[in-house]
Amino acid sequence: MKTIFEKIRDGEIPADVIYRDEQCFAFRDISPQAPVHILIVPNKPIPRVGEAEPGDQALLGHLLLTAAKIASDLGLSENGFRVVINNGPHGGETVPHLHVHLLGGRQLTWPPG
Ligand code: 5GP
Repeated sequence: MKTIFEKIRDGEIPADVIYRDEQCFAFRDISPQAPVHILIVPNKPIPRVGEAEPGDQALLGHLLLTAAKIASDLGLSENGFRVVINNGPHGGETVPHLHVHLLGGRQLTWPPG
């Protein structure tokens, strides 16, 4: 059965997709936690970073470089931004398809809740 992000990938449910390439796609989070809240998702449905394999090394790097590129394109470079990957119940993961959160556009606090 497809995850919700695979359905977005395949155009089966709507989303504000802002980026696509041969390895990943990115869209605006439906429940934004900051003025800019983008999810960068690999086409390959790796459930979570803890289950990524050595063969996914280049893909994982690509996700971070893509997050940085999107941050720059959206004007976040000067004031900064945050990238987050939630893993499992304690990490706050709710969708079992690896995704990088890109958050920006306001001062974020630390530590996270
Ligand atoms: P997680 O909690 O797994 O790290 O992040 C999942 C994120 O996916 C949440 O921030 C949630 O708001 C977002 N999300 C869940 N379902 C949808 C959806 O159907 N469309 C969009 N655009 N975002 C979604």
